[in-house]
Amino acid sequence: MRRRTGGITIKSERELALMRQAGKIVAEAKFHVMEAVKPGVTTGELDSIAEDVIRKMGAVPSFKGYAAGGPIPFTGTICASINEEIVHGIPGSRKLNDGDIFSVDVGAIVKGFHGDSAFTVGVGDISDEAQRLIDATRKSLNFGIEQANSGARIGDIGNAVQQYAESQGYSVVRKYVGHGIGRALHEDPQVPNYGRPGRGVLIKKGMTLAIEPMLNIGTHETVQLDDGWTVVTADSELSAHFEDTIAITADGAEILTTPDGYYF
Ligand code: MG
Ligand code: MG
Repeated sequence: MRRRTGGITIKSERELALMRQAGKIVAEAKFHVMEAVKPGVTTGELDSIAEDVIRKMGAVPSFKGYAAGGPIPFTGTICASINEEIVHGIPGSRKLNDGDIFSVDVGAIVKGFHGDSAFTVGVGDISDEAQRLIDATRKSLNFGIEQANSGARIGDIGNAVQQYAESQGYSVVRKYVGHGIGRALHEDPQVPNYGRPGRGVLIKKGMTLAIEPMLNIGTHETVQLDDGWTVVTADSELSAHFEDTIAITADGAEILTTPDGYYF
């Protein structure tokens, strides 16, 4: 989703509680979508599952009708991106095939506060190469989150993601980045998946960030398709994406969109 910034905000305890609730609903939507991923299912069916979970839990999908990305509002509850599609795939009648990798991005709003999270999963039997990419992408997010401490800087996060990704032979997407989050889906600061340690905005307690590495097997260059949303790798090689919304606490990051008891 294209960035729209609303300044860097420090959340109150009440606001954090709402974001925790939004995060839990996002986790539940992720869980139900993941359980339903199999060859033959359409991305539209998975989108309905996510929307049902979010609405039944009293929240509103963050992405549906989102119009800041361009002239065409987004029509899905999830972004459904397959194989070389990096982010922002539009759910619809396309079926998942055995051997695909599938990236799901989903957001939910509780009383005006957003949660935003993504994961990539294999469909049926996938290649070792594809599984290795997925595992490295999740791991790169964890390394980024480890750096998200009060007193550190945004560049520490991106540097940790980039160092690990590149050590595994992958490139990190530059054009699309993580972000602050709260009353708006995209707030300041931007959280790139690359950078230099000790550089960038100072991280403070009460900040809430969405960290979201996108790792590619080939080039980091991207192309946007004519549908106005779907972003693919320029060389059509595979891409994976993981994202969590976190809150900065006195002792490190609290992961809001993958709370305890959820496994990805
Ligand atoms: Mg997202
Ligand atoms: Mg995001």
